[in-house]
Amino acid sequence: MRKIIIYILGFVLICFTIPIIFTKGKEAKPTENPVEAETEEENQEEYTYAKYGTVRLLHNETGEVETLEMDNYLYGVVSAEMPANFELEALKAQAIVARTYTAYKMFKGSKHANADICDDSTCCQAWISKEDRLAKWNEAERQSNWDKIVTAVDTTKGKIITYNGEPINAFFHSNSGGSTESVANVWGGTDYPYLQSVETVGEEGYTQYSSSVTLTKEEVLQKIQETHPEVVIDFNSQNPIQIIEYTESGRVKTIQFGNISISGVEARTIFGLRSAKFSIEIGENITFNVVGYGHGVGLSQTGADAMAKTGATAEQIINHYYTDVKIENT
Ligand SMILES: [Zn+2]
Repeated sequence: MRKIIIYILGFVLICFTIPIIFTKGKEAKPTENPVEAETEEENQEEYTYAKYGTVRLLHNETGEVETLEMDNYLYGVVSAEMPANFELEALKAQAIVARTYTAYKMFKGSKHANADICDDSTCCQAWISKEDRLAKWNEAERQSNWDKIVTAVDTTKGKIITYNGEPINAFFHSNSGGSTESVANVWGGTDYPYLQSVETVGEEGYTQYSSSVTLTKEEVLQKIQETHPEVVIDFNSQNPIQIIEYTESGRVKTIQFGNISISGVEARTIFGLRSAKFSIEIGENITFNVVGYGHGVGLSQTGADAMAKTGATAEQIINHYYTDVKIENT
């Protein structure tokens, strides 16, 4: 009888051990189970970077350059760039994207003299220290939020997105408003084959999806005059302001204000709109009704979270937003 019990125990042990052995080194699954998370973390610590293992981070405010291990740096990026209450698979996608974005800067050459990347989101990508990050969370969720960020980074350790074997320029933004944008429509130049406009679903459930800006006619005129002093708008004419052309993704390509035409991207900057996907209402005042948040290129963070909620993995999310790419170890 005792022997049978020992056999059963042995069998149970094997059943549990074999899957653990086989999951080692593979891309991690969502790790709600803390035991599994621990196993993966132990395993991940053995990973050594062949390239891109150390990051020289420029702190914009102080001008100081800090040298950090890649994944230690990424804890500060992922926790600054994406809410910790997003799905783990979305956070993992963000970790891979942020690692790739950093690797690309190192691969192509940084725009900063003695650093690979800076902590300004409008220049490179946001970063926050652990101390500052923890202080901004409620005490009740502080540890669990941090652990989730660490899991997202550690379970994707070493992974970057490549195209033709090279790290991609992994742009990302908050909310695409239903479809992402190609690079050329935002910054000009040539398009990247892996950054094409793709449809995205589920973003409308997020606060970043819709917004509006209302200005008086005088304010509209004044704001344009700052960069275009020659502008004249006759608000009594039939079409004082009109959208002339849209991009394939539905963003404003060209918009006319009186005697001048500007790009939707420039209008976004001039009027402080969340994106270039907008419509205009002309009444007593001028209202811009905006859809989406950000430039719209590459991964949509809220779209990634929406995909993760329907069961998509980090790899599936990345392969949706970046065309014909691979996820490889570096
Ligand atoms: Zn920078």
